[in-house]
Amino acid sequence: MAVVPPPACGEAAAYPLVEAFYSLQGEGFHSGMPAYFIRLAGCPVRCDFCDSKQTWSVTGFPRVSAHELADRAARSGAPAVVVTGGEPLIHDLTALCEALHAAGLACWLETSGSQPLTGRWDWICVSPKHGAPLQAAFSRAANELKVVVASEADFAFAETCARFFEAGRVLQFLQCEWGEAGRMQPVVIDYIMSHPQWRLSLQTHKFLDIR
Ligand code: SF4
Repeated sequence: MAVVPPPACGEAAAYPLVEAFYSLQGEGFHSGMPAYFIRLAGCPVRCDFCDSKQTWSVTGFPRVSAHELADRAARSGAPAVVVTGGEPLIHDLTALCEALHAAGLACWLETSGSQPLTGRWDWICVSPKHGAPLQAAFSRAANELKVVVASEADFAFAETCARFFEAGRVLQFLQCEWGEAGRMQPVVIDYIMSHPQWRLSLQTHKFLDIR
């Protein structure tokens, strides 16, 4: 799927916004750190376990300019912004990153890695999905690999994903699919203890019942 240039909003680039809010990053390397979340609409990947299915279509979401998004984030007092979706990279994120950096904010990206990389990022977390091949640019650009594990078969998928990245390039996290945690969490813990190149990622925001 081609990257969609952000449509004009007045003179500025604009993006379909699902929601934006200040909270804590719940998972992965930045878990527990305060961050402003910008959730953009649109995702062609369509995972079975997706907990953001409302984001799959861009229809019905307001277009908000990069400048306005950066202004809202800066006014929140957050030190960093997590740009997520949906799959945010279906949009050209160059203008959004420029606006966020101009506002003094760190830019963190959450992506499946299946779309062309745009924007300048301080941290890139790639969470690959079945049937959505990784784009080559991420092999050197990513900082963090986070694989969602729903069944034992996903360990082989996780190892295949890890081999895609330059050796030692990314921190490697396994994260139990929320709906399978009762059965799979002990299995994931055992796997990490016998494969210590992996770390455990927990969706702490779900345990805490915060956004
Ligand atoms: S890539 Fe993310 S937003 Fe898209 S369907 Fe999968 S889990 Fe949902």
